[in-house]
Amino acid sequence: MPASPLTHPLECDVLVVGSGAAGLSAAVTAAWHGQEVILVEKDPVFGGATAWSGGWMWVPCNPLARRAGIVEDPELPRTYLKHELGERYDAARIDAFLEAGPHMVEFFERHTALQFSDGNLIADIHGDSPGAGTGGRSVIAAPCDGRELGALIHRLRKTMRETSFMGMPIMAGKDLAAFMNMTRSAPAFLHAARRFGRHLIDLARHGRAMQLVNGVALVARLAKSAEALGVRLCESSPARHLIIEDGAVRGALVETAGGEIEIRARKAVVLAAGGFPNDIGRRKAMFPRTPTGHEHLALPPPGASGDGLRLGESAGGQVATDLVSPVAWAPVSLVRYKDGSAGHFPHIIERGKPGIIGVLADGRRFVNEAHGYYDYVTAMVAAVPPEQEVASWLICDHRFQRRYGLGISRPTPLPVGPWVRNGYLKSGATLDELARACGIDPAGLAETVAEYNRHARNGEDPAFGRGSTPYNRKQGDPGHQPNPCVAPIEHAPFYAVKVQPGCFGTFAGLRTNAHAQVLDGAGRPIDGLYAAGTDMASIMGGHYPAGGINLGPAVTFGYIAGRHIAGATAWE
Ligand SMILES: Cc1cc2nc3c(=O)[nH]c(=O)nc-3n(C[C@H](O)[C@H](O)[C@H](O)COP(=O)(O)OP(=O)(O)OC[C@H]3O[C@@H](n4cnc5c(N)ncnc54)[C@H](O)[C@@H]3O)c2cc1C
Repeated sequence: MPASPLTHPLECDVLVVGSGAAGLSAAVTAAWHGQEVILVEKDPVFGGATAWSGGWMWVPCNPLARRAGIVEDPELPRTYLKHELGERYDAARIDAFLEAGPHMVEFFERHTALQFSDGNLIADIHGDSPGAGTGGRSVIAAPCDGRELGALIHRLRKTMRETSFMGMPIMAGKDLAAFMNMTRSAPAFLHAARRFGRHLIDLARHGRAMQLVNGVALVARLAKSAEALGVRLCESSPARHLIIEDGAVRGALVETAGGEIEIRARKAVVLAAGGFPNDIGRRKAMFPRTPTGHEHLALPPPGASGDGLRLGESAGGQVATDLVSPVAWAPVSLVRYKDGSAGHFPHIIERGKPGIIGVLADGRRFVNEAHGYYDYVTAMVAAVPPEQEVASWLICDHRFQRRYGLGISRPTPLPVGPWVRNGYLKSGATLDELARACGIDPAGLAETVAEYNRHARNGEDPAFGRGSTPYNRKQGDPGHQPNPCVAPIEHAPFYAVKVQPGCFGTFAGLRTNAHAQVLDGAGRPIDGLYAAGTDMASIMGGHYPAGGINLGPAVTFGYIAGRHIAGATAWE
């Protein structure tokens, strides 16, 4: 049931704009520190891109790692970031993040419903950079039973269609491994059958998934905590304008079903509206190789359309334009459904498995496909000649597709045929046929695959080094030796899926200081205005050094903002 409608006028200490990880973190932290908090959300459901995400948070030196005996000197992640970010390294904000991150995890664990599971086996993406971690720097929200949220569950965004199975989110790690191995192992089959059976009952009873994992568990746990702490949660209530008095932000005008109302904030407004992945104008202006703004398959929900940046600018805030990349690239394929709707599928899992390569229209490889998603698209954008559409094709054989799936076409026991028939996958009895179906140069592809296979039979990839880093190997198949990321492509029919530039969100946001206060053109904090999550210019300077570098800082800077507004001093 929605909250009681907003009435004119309202007052609070802190007004939070947006209900993703950053907004909810700020709201919960401020409320726990005694602040009266209102959170407004534009969409009819809470959760934003966070609810669709993998939910991984990069938080070096976190208490879960420490409890497991992984005790790192903070100098190590700092060294890693210094090397990765180069001249974009912002010492003040990185220090604030590295210091507050572990406290943030402790705070939520101790005082709220947000409990975590560890990512102690997840390596940083660039294992050859000094200070790179091989595990212990990531956490994820612990799975959550939706029934514990009562009526609130129906006000939360459901899992993304493309990354779930019939609406059931699957968690990276053991859960996903069980689904991938369900035709090979009895315990895996039992796990998958039990999970799916329960999901079907939940669908029948509640009309949605109730075994919550990944980003949707993070949102559920944060929203539950916010509700318990008395945060007023208002959906379908977009903030339209900031109230600015004598240069200070004092609240916002918010659109509601009953008309526009004024919400005054005695202490601060926190902008956490999810950046601008769906702002066509700003995409056109800022994204490379995006001349009309439409050459991009953004993954976040449409509501993340730049409102926070515009609100911040109206108060004198500045959008950072000097990041290495304004966008958190993701390789994405377009999925067309029978009902005429379209979806965006993120290629996160299969690129590192043995027996797949990515090629351009000339049939040539251009990157180590097992590297990070951001690296794949960065390389693709750089490699495609200027006059051509930026796109690549992921190529595999029948054995690979049946074992690991390709994009949204799932592995055995689910059929591949429907995805070939609807054109999502191209297929060919020979590589030549496949190349012609895709519009790839057949000679180039034949040569590339022959050369790749020659080495792949020995588990080697001298051209790009698949399997050469801990991150690569983690993305591969540990059961496949000698190289978990390399196998020949030779069992017809062959398949391909077209992959285009898309994103997990944006990096270019409002400039802030280490307290998450929005800065004006002279670098001074704007009184009463904070930004967190993707509304804040990424502390990674447009680089992507590790999985979880969006959500780790989003939750941490939400926490930092909430504490700063409340005037908290001791770590809680
Ligand atoms: C498929 C996918 C997987 C991902 N996996 C990961 C991962 O594992 N780890 C990681 O670090 N990152 C991941 N990301 C990226 C990450 O999810 C985002 O960077 C993060 O969720 C952004 O959080 P946020 O709080 O800034 O914004 P959001 O979660 O997008 O929330 C912003 C909210 O603000 C609302 N809003 C917009 N305008 C207004 C307005 N005017 N008034 C009120 N509300 C407004 C929006 O509707 C939205 O609900 C993933 C993203 C996707 C799409």
